[in-house]
Amino acid sequence: MPATVVVGTQWGDEGKGKLTDLLASEMDVVVRYQGGHNAGHRVVVGSEEFTLQLVPSGVLYSHITPVIGNGVVVDPAVLLEEIDALNARGVDTSKVVVSGNAHLVMPYHQELDRVTERYLGKNSLGTTRRGIGPAYADKAARVGLRVQDLSDPKIFRQKLDVVLKEKNALLAKVYNRLPLAADEIAGRYLEEYAPRVVPMVADTVDLLHRSLEAGRHVLLEGAQATFLDVDHGTYPFVTSSNPVAGGACTGSGLGPRQIDRVIGIAKAYVTRVGSGPFPTELDDDIGDLLVERGHEFGTNTGRRRRCGWFDAVMLRQAVRLNSLSEIALTKLDVRDTFERVKVCVAYECDGERFDYVPYHQSTLHRVVPVYEELPGWLTDLSQATSLADLPQQARDYVALLAEEIGVPVRLVGVGPGREQFVSFASV
Ligand code: GDP
Repeated sequence: MPATVVVGTQWGDEGKGKLTDLLASEMDVVVRYQGGHNAGHRVVVGSEEFTLQLVPSGVLYSHITPVIGNGVVVDPAVLLEEIDALNARGVDTSKVVVSGNAHLVMPYHQELDRVTERYLGKNSLGTTRRGIGPAYADKAARVGLRVQDLSDPKIFRQKLDVVLKEKNALLAKVYNRLPLAADEIAGRYLEEYAPRVVPMVADTVDLLHRSLEAGRHVLLEGAQATFLDVDHGTYPFVTSSNPVAGGACTGSGLGPRQIDRVIGIAKAYVTRVGSGPFPTELDDDIGDLLVERGHEFGTNTGRRRRCGWFDAVMLRQAVRLNSLSEIALTKLDVRDTFERVKVCVAYECDGERFDYVPYHQSTLHRVVPVYEELPGWLTDLSQATSLADLPQQARDYVALLAEEIGVPVRLVGVGPGREQFVSFASV
């Protein structure tokens, strides 16, 4: 049984949580493959809203095994807090499984994330300051501590002592901060966290392969999004991992031939948090209206998101980068009050036309979007349940997007609720 990947196609917050929720009934295993607790998925189940940062959203369904894959970086304090909060709301978390190869976010990662951002001043990256980037940096530098080290106190302590010596020198000599105490960190991780985290640790590669062999459905859930990818995004204003569908393989231990469906999620407009190029950005009343109607404030940080017109150039690039098989379009309802709607179908720069995102970022900063304009539908879509309920203008808008992107739009979101979507199989 092949696996399915769900990936954000823009700069995040496209509504991945809701799509996972929609697909949950068909799935047996849901895997997070990258990122850490810098992600924030909001899922509405019935009348309840849940915000999940680290635990895969599959946890909200009793038939699903939620897996935190090897590509994720895990802050055990956050993991346990999230589990306690879910338990307090009656959610069973006993099936959560964590890869022993996932890396740990350590206190010095958080400290370094904070001080380096401050040190960079106006050039700061706008990270969530939760230690995710420094944890991935240590993974690549091969000085990281892994979840499996929690079950071997001797190894844990040896690795901690080596790495902390260097981190403390950095904190004290470069950033003028107090050193961190190895005893305190080891005590917390080994005595407080390990007894609760170690029982969740398993060979997740084996679990996933056996699941597929047994004909079970596996969903790989990306955090952040394509244009925040450390390789393919708008570097350096990116995350420190690979949200693109290829990351689902490295971050879970499945091979590319085990994935046969890649669903890209896109908002019916574009949003971005923090700095970085954004060709279709709207710095006007229309942008404010999108913020207001779309509640465009960060799940984790509360930061106001920048908003702009739908960008088919980005989406075409996302189709290539992820081999998308289809699109799920969210938040079409946010557009309900617009008299006219625009879609960016190409970029222009110095007389050259771009159908894909230019590789040189200096060009991307200077491109001018080429828009196609359509009439709005000026109708409340929130009650629509079938294609027939959508006004012709809304259907035309979706059809134009599908044509420009080159893959079908299969689902269209018309509100935050689980039932608020329209199946668009014919586009
Ligand atoms: P994620 O990180 O990609 O899951 O995105 P967020 O957690 O930021 O979710 C996006 C928000 O949009 C959540 O509050 C969802 O409930 C909401 N949402 C998802 N789909 C739709 C939709 O079709 N219409 C509206 N109005 N809201 C939606």
